[in-house]
Amino acid sequence: MIIVLKPECSKEQVLMFTDMLTSQYNVKVNKWEGVHSTVLGLIGDTTQIDIDYIDAQDFVESVKRVQEPYKKANRKFHPENTVIELSNGVKIGDGSLQIMAGPCSVESEEQVTEIAKRVKLSGASILRGGAFKPRTSPYAFQGLKAEGLDLLKAARKATGLPIVTEIMRVSHIDMFENVDIIQVGARNMQNFELLKELGKVNKPILLKRGLSATIEEWLMSAEYIMAGGNDQVILCERGIRTYETFTRNTLDLSAIPIVKSLSHLPVVVDPSHATGKSWLVEPMAIAAVAAGADGLIIEVHNDPAHALCDGAQSLTPDQFDSLAKKVFKLKDYMKDNI
Ligand code: PEP
Ligand code: MN
Repeated sequence: MIIVLKPECSKEQVLMFTDMLTSQYNVKVNKWEGVHSTVLGLIGDTTQIDIDYIDAQDFVESVKRVQEPYKKANRKFHPENTVIELSNGVKIGDGSLQIMAGPCSVESEEQVTEIAKRVKLSGASILRGGAFKPRTSPYAFQGLKAEGLDLLKAARKATGLPIVTEIMRVSHIDMFENVDIIQVGARNMQNFELLKELGKVNKPILLKRGLSATIEEWLMSAEYIMAGGNDQVILCERGIRTYETFTRNTLDLSAIPIVKSLSHLPVVVDPSHATGKSWLVEPMAIAAVAAGADGLIIEVHNDPAHALCDGAQSLTPDQFDSLAKKVFKLKDYMKDNI
């Protein structure tokens, strides 16, 4: 962290300020005295320092971070990849490609179990399905809630696939006790109270990128969960808001290698919510795998035209089968040749 002090800052103020920084934050302070101003260079772990507090001091001209504000999610402090292992032995982040697939929303036992069986046959290793749905309209289908969780568990029993499903509030954490991966949706990426509580849970968390979140904000949200003691975080790029309206969101493919260089956490990509159109899901899934994604999360419905949520972006089981064949083939090719 570099702090530039105002020219009128007295020697006593500089001394008091540097003493405070060294004693309170355990950092080393290097000082350069120029003709007009003094510059302080802070060396050590500056993640705990509130940059706004520094900026608010009368005698501070400007302050700039030169190190990322997150530590636990940072590859600098944890060079090896984090590998998340589920109870059935499925590993995310170990160099393999894992596919989470299933309906946007759980609608009935037949629907979710039938889809689960089909996606498993195509090579999906995790079943997705929303029980609590964050919908833009209060009049839209809100999910089957607790019953939806039970139906997911029934589909898990029928297929052996672990389940991933979205949580929306802290008071529901106990209900998610039996879920394999808890999803935090894009709209809740900065629900800090929820993130803090999920930090106390001993379960993987799929953290979706917020609609307008920068990569740093996304990693800071992962840091919230990890700071609470839960280091099993899987990041999910699901597209961000841009001026483009052709697609539902804009898939930020560059976020995959960026996040993998900044962080040791696994990254999965959701081409369904990123595009909003079923015909765009396969090419974007292929692109995501080519860009280094550890996994994909894809919406599949046995009858997309009658889906209660997100039918337009849902693949049929046959379309999913064709996509899965291609991405696994690509992954194998990459392993052997790239
Ligand atoms: C979902 O995966 O069902 C979902 C609502 O996604 P997102 O939070 O990315 O919009
Ligand atoms: Mn959806």
